[in-house]
Amino acid sequence: MRSAAARRCRVCGAEAQVYLRYARAAFCAKHFVEYIEGRVRRTMERYAMLRPGERVVVAVSGGKDSVTLAALLARILGGEAPERMLMLYMDLGIKGYSDKLREAVERLSGELGVKLMVVSLEELVGVASIYELARRARRATCSVCGTVKRYVMNAVAVEAGAVLATGHTLDDALAYIVKDFMYQDQERLSKWVPRTPAAPGAAPRIRPLIEVSERETLLYALMRGLPFVHEECPHRPRDSVEDATKDYLNRVEEAHPGTKISFLRRVVSRAAATGADEGGTPRTCTICGLVSRGDVCSFCRLTQRVLGEPMGPRVRRVVREKLASLGWL
Ligand code: SF4
Ligand code: ZN
Ligand code: ZN
Repeated sequence: MRSAAARRCRVCGAEAQVYLRYARAAFCAKHFVEYIEGRVRRTMERYAMLRPGERVVVAVSGGKDSVTLAALLARILGGEAPERMLMLYMDLGIKGYSDKLREAVERLSGELGVKLMVVSLEELVGVASIYELARRARRATCSVCGTVKRYVMNAVAVEAGAVLATGHTLDDALAYIVKDFMYQDQERLSKWVPRTPAAPGAAPRIRPLIEVSERETLLYALMRGLPFVHEECPHRPRDSVEDATKDYLNRVEEAHPGTKISFLRRVVSRAAATGADEGGTPRTCTICGLVSRGDVCSFCRLTQRVLGEPMGPRVRRVVREKLASLGWL
């Protein structure tokens, strides 16, 4: 994406604000927004992400990607959005950060006219912050955070009888794919399908932004004036493998526009062709009943070890109560 100066919008001829090199096209703000919406609509259709009438829980963190995802899905679902869509915000109790995110997500919910469910770590497991839980677990904050978020997002979608939508972008997907390849994690590598099917104790998962880059989600959010938080989480590690991979791939893209999308499509079509996304016999946690790799899921194991009680059943109960109070069940 380069300077759009002196270029004209390909649709209306007005002064362009964005130039997309891979598409060799310039757009004004209005037509860029429409262009991205059209792309996401087509991606969702191509991979049959949502079936007629299916409901969707959208995980919204308050950052640009998930805010863009929620706004796009609300447009795509149109008049059905209030009935079929639920935004989920998880308050991780991160000082000076979580409150700002929550405020942005609450504003977005109001602007889109879509219900919002807020759950806090405190309500779910009785610990005030993710940092505190990680400290007690003697693990890196992001690792514990990942375990908790994955568990809670799935639990909400399962209880809601809905599909779970996450804001993974093209850049996220490629960074994970390269990492899986580097570490030869064939099982995960073969799971890169845009819609992960349901399994016992696991809701289907979709990634509608899988063909949209992070720069595009940022521009989309800015051009629509969506409320989002620019700041990064204070626990975010510097110089992660994912970030280094994203930088590298962006340099390749700069020299060879279109590389990222064709790389993604090849991996996805290979994963779909091998059908490997089913990934062995699905198991469920003997304690909470949700999907698990072993007898007990990683969330129940973590909370059992740190808090003396596996918290899966409590999380499911809290989630059901919240959904009922929102009139969702
Ligand atoms: Fe959680 Fe780490 Fe992301 Fe912060 S940076 S939200 S702690 S995973
Ligand atoms: Zn235009
Ligand atoms: Zn469990």
